[in-house]
Amino acid sequence: MNIEKYTYLQERFLPRLTSAEVKAMDKDDALLILPVGATEQHGPHLPAYTDAILVESMINESFKHLDSDENIWVLPTLPYGKSNEHMDRPGTFTLSSDTLKSLLIDICRSAHKNGFKRLALFNGHGGNLDTLKLIARDVRIETGIMIFIVHIGALDVPEDVVTKEEMLLGIHAGDYETSLMLHDSPKWVKEDLLVKETPNLLEKSDFLRFQSGNLAWTIDDVSESGVVGDATIATREKGAQLYKKQGKQLSDIFLDIKNFDSDSLI
Ligand SMILES: [Zn+2]
Repeated sequence: MNIEKYTYLQERFLPRLTSAEVKAMDKDDALLILPVGATEQHGPHLPAYTDAILVESMINESFKHLDSDENIWVLPTLPYGKSNEHMDRPGTFTLSSDTLKSLLIDICRSAHKNGFKRLALFNGHGGNLDTLKLIARDVRIETGIMIFIVHIGALDVPEDVVTKEEMLLGIHAGDYETSLMLHDSPKWVKEDLLVKETPNLLEKSDFLRFQSGNLAWTIDDVSESGVVGDATIATREKGAQLYKKQGKQLSDIFLDIKNFDSDSLI
């Protein structure tokens, strides 16, 4: 974590507190957030650490919209994920789904042991989603803690910022991720190496769309460059608009989760 850079996140970084401070915290009213990233190839122009950077920067952005006394806290980012669809490309360091599952369950159990009642998994890598969903209900049943999954890819993207077609096809290191990185971490982007590469999936069938999850693809199936999308149209300004819009939406989601009471449903 770039703790010096993300000043809003820094104030809510749980491990900066002492054991006594965590003990004294009102857990009934608290939301704990675990950012989940990945370390995987992101084409010729983005760093392998992109997904971990994006979850932290988006959380930091969301905290700009929260009152300073809001009882919301963040754990250290999990910098590895299940990235076996990229494992044949250098720069990728993947966990197996079993390892990710065990890691997440252990962290969730610790959150419960600490007394927290609500834990949001803020995920930056689509390949982690199935495993997150798998553990969430098991942990809920085992510990009683409420687990919520918030995926960066499910936040709203204005069509006048990134086109609908690009959002359907540009799932990896395309316009969306590159624009965010150009705004947040421009020195980490190789702007002379931006590429466009999109598979012809949309012409096949709706059933095969990436978002359906029906196709167990690997990067070699869909891209030579490692990019799936159009990074050549990414701009720093688009990134600023995305952070503004999605940061606000994410803060609203965190507040909804924090105020959620499972006993109020029936
Ligand atoms: Zn990514």
